[in-house]
Amino acid sequence: MLFDCLAAQTPDPLLSLIGEFARDGRADKLDLSVGVYRDDEGRTPVMQAVKQAEQRLVDGQASKSYLGPDGDRGFAEAITDLVLGAQAGSRARAMQTVGGTGALGLAAGLLAAAGGPRTIWLATPTWSNHVPVFAAAGLAIRTYAHVDPATGGFALDAFLAAAEQAQPGDAFLLQACGHNPTGVDPDPEAWETIGRTLARKRLIPLLDDAYQGFGEGLEEDAQGLRTVLAEVPEALVAVSCNKSFGLYRDRGGALVCCGHDAAALEVAMANARTIARSSYSMPPDHGAAVVRTILEDRALTQLWRDELARMRHRLRATRRALGARLAANDPRLGAIAGQHGMFCLLPIDAAQVARLRSQFAIFIAPDGRVNLAALPLHRVDAFAEALGDVTA
Ligand code: PMP
Repeated sequence: MLFDCLAAQTPDPLLSLIGEFARDGRADKLDLSVGVYRDDEGRTPVMQAVKQAEQRLVDGQASKSYLGPDGDRGFAEAITDLVLGAQAGSRARAMQTVGGTGALGLAAGLLAAAGGPRTIWLATPTWSNHVPVFAAAGLAIRTYAHVDPATGGFALDAFLAAAEQAQPGDAFLLQACGHNPTGVDPDPEAWETIGRTLARKRLIPLLDDAYQGFGEGLEEDAQGLRTVLAEVPEALVAVSCNKSFGLYRDRGGALVCCGHDAAALEVAMANARTIARSSYSMPPDHGAAVVRTILEDRALTQLWRDELARMRHRLRATRRALGARLAANDPRLGAIAGQHGMFCLLPIDAAQVARLRSQFAIFIAPDGRVNLAALPLHRVDAFAEALGDVTA
């Protein structure tokens, strides 16, 4: 029998928590596990700019005919401008993908299609889906440390040591901002060094840009990525719009190929199209159409920027409050206040994570990752106390 021949699968522990949280009957339960923004009532509201764009789409959409494997071209151009800024011009080509994950999958497919033995280097810890995405494409995976245990900051030395060992043509995955799960990003000088090193060693950056706008600001959060792009002849960028536009299930995303040779860029895009065609054929329209509608309209863009800024400011206030509160017990944890993006990684073990859940109805990821974007300011103290209790 066919199905009997299939191997049993371990469910993704993070996704399993979604169901477990939904079934938990405690009124004060708090979900800090899956990476979504939540308001003080635990809701993930649809942004007003998205609602208005959706209304325009409903009123104005004349056809739902196929668009092709590239999806919405206006979306791809607008998102390239947003991410690359002045470098968008002639050296980038983009296509719509099924979320940021789909963009990473196409990037992995391109690397595999280029032949080789081809290796991708991942800084660990990293987002739990990175290894499966690159392994599925048949790439060899090597790792190096993301955080320097001595300073708690970005481990530039570990990156440099990995780059020295890498072979020309190897790829390096770099999270552009708001590192998942640590919240630790390289500073501007480190980004300069990263870019120059990748260029000198002829290594290919794959920049994963999933949290632009949740750190210091939309432009500020793109600076590291742009620094690297300015140094290297070729790069891949995987963009997710699902956090910054609150689109999650609508799966907005794009793959951007950057290079100086227009003909080679066209071949890269044609390869990406071939991979998409045999997998999902064409991306779903709605999320990308919403993003395009917002970015093509000045007033909607401003509304979206303002809403995103409010989310960012709230997140930063939570960070500061939690960092200050935890520093009282453990000075090292004060660093959380100055880190970036939605997440921080707590030094707690699986048993302590389980106690947070059973005793305090607080759900965090099994590795100790906390989604600060779901922690209301008025619950920071209670969270810190619960943490103190389980780690005492
Ligand atoms: N990269 C990173 C680092 C992420 O954390 C995520 C989402 N959790 C993604 C990419 C992809 O997100 P999506 O497929 O929902 O766009």
